[in-house]
Amino acid sequence: MRPRKVPLRKCVACQEMMPKKELIRIVRTPSGEVAIDLTGKKAGRGAYLCGKVSCFKLAKKTKALDRALKQSVGDDIYDALEKEFVAVEEQFIAAKELESDDEEA
Ligand SMILES: [Zn+2]
Repeated sequence: MRPRKVPLRKCVACQEMMPKKELIRIVRTPSGEVAIDLTGKKAGRGAYLCGKVSCFKLAKKTKALDRALKQSVGDDIYDALEKEFVAVEEQFIAAKELESDDEEA
């Protein structure tokens, strides 16, 4: 019995398929800005990364975000995103732990 479907998305860095809520969304807004979207609801083209800094570093190395967002993402933007990514990683993990309390794994 499958209680509900879990939407899967692919991490643009390691290419692993993961449940959407295990991933951090990076969005390219209609104005061309690239930002981390923790709500997953911002308008624009999205790319998903595992909630791990190692995957972000891999994406930076391979320019995976450039390809996924179909836009050239400059090194300065990768650097800024990386700082933000490190900051949200803890928040992201904490939120996941909270959620798993009322949900069977
Ligand atoms: Zn990954």
